Amino acid sequence: MHYFDPPNIEKSILRKAGINETVLVPIKPFKGALPQNCLNNVKAYIDSFGGEVQLGWIFSIMGNIALKLTAHAVVKTNEQKFLCVTPNPYRKDKVRFSPDNGVNALIVNNFLPQKLVPLITNKMLDNYLALEREMNDLRLANSGLVSQKQVLDIQLKAQVLYPSILQLAKENTSQKDYCFCGSNKKRAKCCK
Ligand SMILES: [Zn+2]
Repeated sequence: MHYFDPPNIEKSILRKAGINETVLVPIKPFKGALPQNCLNNVKAYIDSFGGEVQLGWIFSIMGNIALKLTAHAVVKTNEQKFLCVTPNPYRKDKVRFSPDNGVNALIVNNFLPQKLVPLITNKMLDNYLALEREMNDLRLANSGLVSQKQVLDIQLKAQVLYPSILQLAKENTSQKDYCFCGSNKKRAKCCK
């Protein structure tokens, strides 16, 4: 089970993260653009073709129980249209994006932040998300150079919680929802 980008995310879910407006932004990576390197891709694009950096969030979901907001940079073209120039493993055509200039204040050493939002009230889930946040904070504070021991410590704690988290995901994913396993299929046609 992991975070994945389903074909649709309901507005009621996005509102739990304080997101009211999203736009579908066309994805057109240019030659040489790298995955997970959106800010540099956008800057390289602007050097050649003009435009401005627009920061904001993209979204993924884990088992209908947690929403992840990942900071993302797109181009605001000279025609004032948004354009995503970064290759996306989940999406070939368009990506759901919420513009937010506040992201700029959260960037540390060029590392883009994430936000984790629980979609249900559960102590175990809160503990699990706290571990994910701890890992993100370590990466942000250390420019990605986190010691193996620190990573293992957090992973061991997460492993202990994982069976409960998987069970929560199963309980909160109806047969009509996208499957918690991340297959992008409806659960009725996927995992028991
Ligand atoms: Zn499945």
